[in-house]
Amino acid sequence: MRIAFIGLGNMGGGMAANQAKAGRQVAAFDLSAQALDRAKAAGCAPAASVAQAVQDADVVVTMLPAGPHVRTVYAEQILPHAPTSALLIDSSTIDVESARIVGAQARELGFSFADAPVSGGTAAADAGTLAFMVGCDEADFAQVESAIQPMARAVIRAGDHGAGQAAKICNNMVLGISMLGVCEAFALAEKLGLDAERFFEIATQSSGQCWSLSTYCPWPGPVATAPSNRGYEGGFATAMMLKDLKLAQQAAASAGAAAPMGAQAEGLYALFDRLGYGTKDFSGIVQMLRGRLDELA
Ligand code: NAD
Repeated sequence: MRIAFIGLGNMGGGMAANQAKAGRQVAAFDLSAQALDRAKAAGCAPAASVAQAVQDADVVVTMLPAGPHVRTVYAEQILPHAPTSALLIDSSTIDVESARIVGAQARELGFSFADAPVSGGTAAADAGTLAFMVGCDEADFAQVESAIQPMARAVIRAGDHGAGQAAKICNNMVLGISMLGVCEAFALAEKLGLDAERFFEIATQSSGQCWSLSTYCPWPGPVATAPSNRGYEGGFATAMMLKDLKLAQQAAASAGAAAPMGAQAEGLYALFDRLGYGTKDFSGIVQMLRGRLDELA
């Protein structure tokens, strides 16, 4: 299978490497020369342009920053240059409307298209254990699943074009809100004189249990692998969480849905970002909520 991989950043680099590791021919392109060098070292063939990468692809995978990049790269470079037999998969996290627009343009020209955003972060991208949420025609799903397989631990079809992005945005709104709840609870527990390890033990066995607490605990100590134990470095950047919460609000406004907790979460992450912590893991917001930003480098 010939894969064209466009966008070899923090996520795309590891994902393209896993396609090469699975024995597929990977033609890779990124605007960054360093990213291209890393892809070459991982067994991909660097291309000189998007057009060159996609020209004889069976599958095109894009992993780009945001909606405008995806709309432009598809309209100007992928759709005019890829063979119409190619399956097009966009795994970037973008707005639902852009995913539907690109899907409709692709379909009109005879391409199969899937929006297939991921959950799992850079560690899962490197390990090939991402969860994919897919929006595509039902008839295309088996092919999408097999194309994605070397990068995935789970591939779930959410519905038609745009449904993958809708699922991603809703999931990350839960994550942003639940993380703030856990952070507030630890800050309150501290003021009440509760031992943090004891509170963790109790809440993980009680109804406060959730992923933000048990797997990604924002308080240093209880979960050794969480970013809270490495100065909130790496993990899922606050700026990325903010982007996803903005997408959720945008989607809620256009669909006429109320998402007031999501709006509160967006406001708090926007403040943390404005204070200069956009590159810190999003769980670092616990230091803002407990009034101890001095503990964040
Ligand atoms: P990144 O900024 O590290 O990578 C994006 C790459 O796209 C960069 O290398 C950039 O040079 C390249 N690029 C931009 N415009 C291009 C163009 N026109 N042609 C070719 N290459 C181009 O971002 P990332 O962390 O890899 O995230 C990519 C997407 O995945 C985003 O939509 C993000 O929201 C989503 N995502 C990220 C994470 C995470 O933990 N980082 C987790 C899940 C989803």
